[in-house]
Amino acid sequence: MTIAANLGYPRIGPRRELKTALESHWAGQTTEAELLASAEALRAASRALQQGSGINHIPSADFALYDHVLDTACALGAVPPGYGWSGEGPVPLATHFALARGIPGTAGSPGAPALEMTKWFDTNYHYLVPRLTAATRFQLTTNRWADAVREGLALGTRTRPVLLGPVSFLLLSKAEDVRPLELLPALLPVYAQVLRGIAQAGASWVQIDEPCLVTDLPLGAEAAYATAYRALAEAAPGLDILLATYFGGLRENLPFVAELPVAGLHIDLVRAPGQLEDVLAALPADRWLSLGLVDGRNVWRTDLRRALGLAQRAAASGRARRLMVAPSCALLHVPHSLKLETALDPALARRLAFAQEKLAEVVCLARGLDEGEAAIAPQLRASDAARAEAPPPDSAVAARLATLTPAMTQRQSPFAQRAAAQQARFDLPPLPVTSIGSWPQTAEVRALRARLARGEIDQAAHDAEMQRLTAEAVRWQEEIGVDVPVHGEFERNDMVKYFGEQLAGYAFTKHGWVQSYGSRCVAPPIIWGDVSRPHPMTVRWSAFAQSLTSRPMKGMLTGPVTMLNWSFVRDDLPRETVCRQIALAIRDEVADLEAAGIGMIQIDEPALREGLPLRQADRADYLRWAVECFRLSASVVGDATQIHTHMCYSEFNDIIAEIAAMDADVISIETARSDMSLLAAFESFAYPNAIGPGVWDIHSPRVPEATEMLDLLRRAARRVPAARLWANPDCGCKTRGWAEVRPAMANLVAAARTLRAEL
Ligand code: GLN
Ligand code: ZN
Repeated sequence: MTIAANLGYPRIGPRRELKTALESHWAGQTTEAELLASAEALRAASRALQQGSGINHIPSADFALYDHVLDTACALGAVPPGYGWSGEGPVPLATHFALARGIPGTAGSPGAPALEMTKWFDTNYHYLVPRLTAATRFQLTTNRWADAVREGLALGTRTRPVLLGPVSFLLLSKAEDVRPLELLPALLPVYAQVLRGIAQAGASWVQIDEPCLVTDLPLGAEAAYATAYRALAEAAPGLDILLATYFGGLRENLPFVAELPVAGLHIDLVRAPGQLEDVLAALPADRWLSLGLVDGRNVWRTDLRRALGLAQRAAASGRARRLMVAPSCALLHVPHSLKLETALDPALARRLAFAQEKLAEVVCLARGLDEGEAAIAPQLRASDAARAEAPPPDSAVAARLATLTPAMTQRQSPFAQRAAAQQARFDLPPLPVTSIGSWPQTAEVRALRARLARGEIDQAAHDAEMQRLTAEAVRWQEEIGVDVPVHGEFERNDMVKYFGEQLAGYAFTKHGWVQSYGSRCVAPPIIWGDVSRPHPMTVRWSAFAQSLTSRPMKGMLTGPVTMLNWSFVRDDLPRETVCRQIALAIRDEVADLEAAGIGMIQIDEPALREGLPLRQADRADYLRWAVECFRLSASVVGDATQIHTHMCYSEFNDIIAEIAAMDADVISIETARSDMSLLAAFESFAYPNAIGPGVWDIHSPRVPEATEMLDLLRRAARRVPAARLWANPDCGCKTRGWAEVRPAMANLVAAARTLRAEL
């Protein structure tokens, strides 16, 4: 019989119960015991749900209060000093949270920073980076995996605990004084102990995740895998290891992975369906093969016929000892259940599958494989019918895409000529002061939006209030001497949602929450049809703001690549095609803003880097179309219209050529925390256009003095000619309060004026 398996279930709870439990605990309203009880109830509910769906291998220890990598580090004793752990015995919960969130400084103590947080592969989940040193003494502080097995068994459910594998654990960690892989010999005995404990607790399978196997591995990793899995196979001979790989294909790593002494291998056949044949050819015949057929990264219903075809092909090959059917990866990256979405267009809802619905697909595929297509005929018909319900292509969108020309991605003239035309038009002083777009989203602003949503005020009353706030902000910017003011984005709920709600082809869920980190969740929009712009989106607001001032008002848009990367994207078109559709919609908005007299337009692309493929070999292609889409959205304007862009992430070195190829007249970047060192990439590349390096770290409530910002500007001026420098904060100010923004911006103006006077 084929095993229906799951690799991991969402932790946050169908109604974000974990978020509520965590935040009330952090606020001191609930005890540790109450928090742990809420978490246990969530785990029991998801086990019951998976069991009820017919899943045979139900994951355990896939849960984490904050982050599973953090929990792994704590269980293995990889806890840096200074966070409240004695170095012996279980790591207190308070230490987990101190590592995750930092310890605020007080008069008596300097506090401690949180562990660095970074993206989990190419997902929007963020994990905490374990901090190791050559002196890290690994020890099993608590066998959370064995405990999870016992917790399930106590309620009658045998589970398959999920363990982040030792090599991926080390590759995902950071150490200053040693290559993390060198710590493997010290780590393996602890992993062996974990496995023995799991076996003793009564599990027959363990899932060991090694997602690094789908990436470009560093030197020495192959040998590390061989050593590690030889040791783990010996540690608990009665325990079957399923080695799980996901987020891509194994490619050149397949030959050695196939030889690792494990009971079974899980492969991602959604991201890399083509690897099935190679895996079937390479895998020794005594291995189990787990087929990742249901997309754990996206919200679409599975094409059951196609998935079943792949499974049948695997079965017919006779190569694998036995088969499992599973999602491609843990379901952590999709929302809980469609059941809560009562307001979605029914035609769209029929085409979706969230975590709960994906479980049913897994079970159905396993059954279809064992009992034949006839046994799942109704499900196959429903799957076919849902696919046939895809919205009809928008012929106008298709027609426009067919007529794209290279000229549409080219500004009229090279930068130098544009800069001259823009200077003649705007007559800006050196080091012009601007901001990134948003001003504080205060309680007042949020209340207005909430009252509109509840129907307590009408659109006109809401808009009038937003205009009042905009007018106040414009007046204030004039008073303090901001050279290029912004309208403040008060009317926007979110930089993607605001545009998605006005574009055709987008849909929004009510409860489609996905964990981003800790208690933070996002509800990504769903791009399900051809994207187009039925009407102007921002022109009214920008034109109103411009009417209040003689200074150039900067229009503010979210770029096509960011719109794409922060959404669930339809899977029946190449991503680059969807991105081009969005780019054309933004291009229309850019053209309308220009026609309405807006002379500067910022197209934000903070998520451009987030779309980078995991493999180096795939990156050039992504960057090619991402840059092209940005240029398509921006290049509609004349020379005298100034295009800005903004990016806030901390690395440009490896993509500086592409950043330059975007050819924005001005780019603002986040640099305050890095002391301008990020500008090195721009300097050594001789980046030709204008740059606004952030001089105020808006992530901190601290108000910087003018002297500090002056110092940063001076440093910047040593790397980039002052004639091409702008002065601005690191990012938008929506999360800050006016009490910080007012003095900080005034100080920023003062700093820019001081340096200006010295030029
Ligand atoms: N214009 C946006 C703002 O100011 C940019 C946000 C971002 O970079 N994430 O809020
Ligand atoms: Zn930003």
